[in-house]
Amino acid sequence: MKVPFLDLKAHHEPLRAEINAAIAEVIDSCAFAGGPFVARFEEEFARYCGARFAVGVGSGTDALWLTLLALGVGQGDEVITVPNTFMATAEAISYTGALPVFVDVDEETYTMDAELLEQAITPRTKAIIPVHLFGQCADMDRIQEIAGRHGVPVVEDACQAHGATYKGQKAGTMGVAGCFSFYPGKNLGAFGEAGAVVTNDPDLAETIRMLRDHGQARKYVHSKIGWNARMDGIQAAVLRVKLARLDEVNARRRAHAALYRALLADCEDVILPIEAPWNMHVYHVYAVRVKDRDGVMEALAQRGVGCGIHYPIPIHLQEAYNRLGHKPGSFPVAERCARELLSLPMYPELTCEQIRYVCAELKKVVAARRGYECVA
Ligand SMILES: *Cc1c(COP(=O)(O)O)cnc(C)c1O
Repeated sequence: MKVPFLDLKAHHEPLRAEINAAIAEVIDSCAFAGGPFVARFEEEFARYCGARFAVGVGSGTDALWLTLLALGVGQGDEVITVPNTFMATAEAISYTGALPVFVDVDEETYTMDAELLEQAITPRTKAIIPVHLFGQCADMDRIQEIAGRHGVPVVEDACQAHGATYKGQKAGTMGVAGCFSFYPGKNLGAFGEAGAVVTNDPDLAETIRMLRDHGQARKYVHSKIGWNARMDGIQAAVLRVKLARLDEVNARRRAHAALYRALLADCEDVILPIEAPWNMHVYHVYAVRVKDRDGVMEALAQRGVGCGIHYPIPIHLQEAYNRLGHKPGSFPVAERCARELLSLPMYPELTCEQIRYVCAELKKVVAARRGYECVA
């Protein structure tokens, strides 16, 4: 059996007619860059999240970068985040001129360890970016309590957590702003690049609106130096079609995660993801931990199962951040994650048969590494 890591084609097939019609409407009205389709998506996405405003931008990276700029982060400042994230989180910090400062993650949820946050805060700290990794929210109450005591705003990297909740609140609505990516493979994915910032702060929303459009207050009147970071009309039209299905696709991902859990529960060699009791995890990624991860991944590939690694090198050990002077051992949990995490196939259209096959093969592969057969 073949089980690809991701199958976007299967995801889009049933939506094809509706998406074609939505794109045709944009073509007919020529509203390609920003415009009414983007405005409609912003309204719907803000409502979905339960936030007052959403501002559509070009990518999740833009969302993070422009939010930091709008908060006044720049040269000489520090912004705290985690080392086990996609490069974009740290890059957005660096592109403001600020220094990324890392805090290790919690061994169970792989999100920011609130115990370690306080000691990383200095008088230069201008923002804290917890990452809702793999579709599960960081421990926002504790992070916000510590940040609040120091008067530092919290910006959520919700790029993997569309529709996830923490104590009933949607990802992206707890900090001063939440940043989303609509990269095609995300739980809510466009047909190209797109992103959004959600916030309840009208001034922050207005500043980000200006920054994404060359700092224009009105056409050709520039009150700030901004950038071209607008969302495309076509992406907005596609996203509106897909937003209507987000809860349904997240529910399917959760059902798949439950089946993985049931089938792998008796396998001691596989550490399963832990969902904190206050979280509704949306399983953008279903990552387990195994010893000899690269060997397991290769053996699964030979058996037709596609896996991923999120992420093989933690940010603090990337060559691009050599100058920060971190060494192996600086953030031990993140480093263990980089060595052991293996992302199994996860997308709404997976079938039960495929999940059963992945689990049976995974059990055989890890058992062979232990030198005996466990019962599949
Ligand atoms: C995808 C992602 C981003 C960046 O989003 P783009 O739309 O690709 O720019 C940032 N942070 C995290 C955690 C992501 O997964």
